[in-house]
Amino acid sequence: MKAVYINETGGTDALIYGDRPDPEIAPGEVLLRVGASALNHLDLNLRAGSARRFPHILGCDFAGEVVQISPDAGTDLQVGDRVLVDNRVKCGGHNLCQHCAAGHDQWCARQQRIGVDLDGGHAEYVVAPAINCYAVPDEMQFTEAAALPIALHTSWHCLITQAKLQPWDDVLVQAAGSGVGSMGIQIAKMMGCRVITTAGSNWKLDEAKKWGADEVINYREVDSLSDTVRELTDGQGVDVVFDCVGADVWHENMLCLKQEGRLVITGVTSGSQTPMDLSILHGRPLHLMGSGGRSRRTMADAMKMVQQGALRGIVGRTFPLDGVGEAHQVMHDRDFFGKLVIEH
Ligand SMILES: [Zn+2]
Repeated sequence: MKAVYINETGGTDALIYGDRPDPEIAPGEVLLRVGASALNHLDLNLRAGSARRFPHILGCDFAGEVVQISPDAGTDLQVGDRVLVDNRVKCGGHNLCQHCAAGHDQWCARQQRIGVDLDGGHAEYVVAPAINCYAVPDEMQFTEAAALPIALHTSWHCLITQAKLQPWDDVLVQAAGSGVGSMGIQIAKMMGCRVITTAGSNWKLDEAKKWGADEVINYREVDSLSDTVRELTDGQGVDVVFDCVGADVWHENMLCLKQEGRLVITGVTSGSQTPMDLSILHGRPLHLMGSGGRSRRTMADAMKMVQQGALRGIVGRTFPLDGVGEAHQVMHDRDFFGKLVIEH
């Protein structure tokens, strides 16, 4: 089959579009013919240096059609079903780690990720546990479905499970154009919150408004983000900040929060080391939260809202399977809104 894989780490020229053996299903698994796959920043990190297995097929997000099912899979899936996949492979059957046995699969000790520890979806075919597959709504194209899994699950976990959004919350979503940022805008609006968001270009802010943002801030055009956020909230600050940027905005994030404000971070694309003013933390006071592992239950909850049409995949640009290198460059340059999707 055709696939995009790496034999070593490096620049975009390390990406190889070529032939790999067709995958074979193991117990509990299904074989999918991939309809579309999507990029994550993680792919750039893997390609540039963090990959540990070679040859390795990239692609953590994907959607496709079921073409074969392991006889022991114990699933309601049928050949021909259209599904998207949660890429986190955890314990199954009766052989459970202590966390899975206790109902905390988000902390599964044997967790492996498709596209990281296992071959991914930038290929004509991929295998996945049947339990990781979720039905794609009939009217939704694979291109849109592939844009969903990781951004949806991450943003849902951070905003619903961790920050416990309430309809009366004012929410600041950093990096409107990112996969999790754009999905975070949708989820916060779905919950009835007032959404303020940031980006470095006005066309991204126009897109953010289309997806539900109430107030938009071009961070390149304001002297102080936190002053601007306070002006937009009657001097109060926001209840929740959702951030995937990290070090560059950490201090401003803290200043944007009101009393008892909640900050949840799910990425550190600008770096992970930064000074911290502890007086703000204890004085205001604030609640600081990370993302961490995500459970099957929250994925199922989020997919229920996708089935109801309340949440959509956000496709920024599309590329062919032999255009993954160009897609990596576009992601590096950040000149897109939502997800970069590979159409197969
Ligand atoms: Zn486990």
